[in-house]
Amino acid sequence: MTSSSTDTLLASIRTIPDYPKPGILFRDITTLLGNAQAFRRAIDELVHPYAGRKVDKIAGIEARGFILGGAVAHQLSAGFVPIRKKGKLPHETVRVAYSLEYGLDEMEMHKDGVAPGEKVILIDDLIATGGTAEAAVKLLRQIGADIIAACFVIDLPDLGGRKKLEALNVPVRTLMAFD
Ligand code: AMP
Repeated sequence: MTSSSTDTLLASIRTIPDYPKPGILFRDITTLLGNAQAFRRAIDELVHPYAGRKVDKIAGIEARGFILGGAVAHQLSAGFVPIRKKGKLPHETVRVAYSLEYGLDEMEMHKDGVAPGEKVILIDDLIATGGTAEAAVKLLRQIGADIIAACFVIDLPDLGGRKKLEALNVPVRTLMAFD
């Protein structure tokens, strides 16, 4: 990615201090999504390493991963499969528990959302500790997905998420980082 392209994307992110609680710098991508040029650029950048390669499904993590993942799926002529908080999907699911800062949560996907051996790219807006993405990787692997990459617009490298996924042999691609 060129430095002007990175600058355009960086400038399109709004940072909100102390949201949702004191001490957190919330990196808000709604300003990127609302900027036609930045949104197109982000999707183009997410897509280009995989153009012309076989990608069967994009798996998007609720909720911002749905917006980005839908656009990426369209560009790659791949299907889209949602990974959701528990209790939202109507058909038979696989489920995984994962830790949040306080307590546990669970995420689910449809059992038939990905067929064994299908090539899948996982997408979310941001990777921080990597706990959310790690849980999504476990879910996808439970049903036999071949995860070719996990892609995020934003990396918070100090929180170690990228390393966590790489330790699971998942290649990670991010478009920008904030300290
Ligand atoms: P983690 O599981 O720690 O990698 O957190 C990643 C998930 O939490 C993603 O779905 C993000 O949308 C959200 N998230 C975590 N930290 C932030 C942050 N500082 N700004 C915006 N979203 C965040």
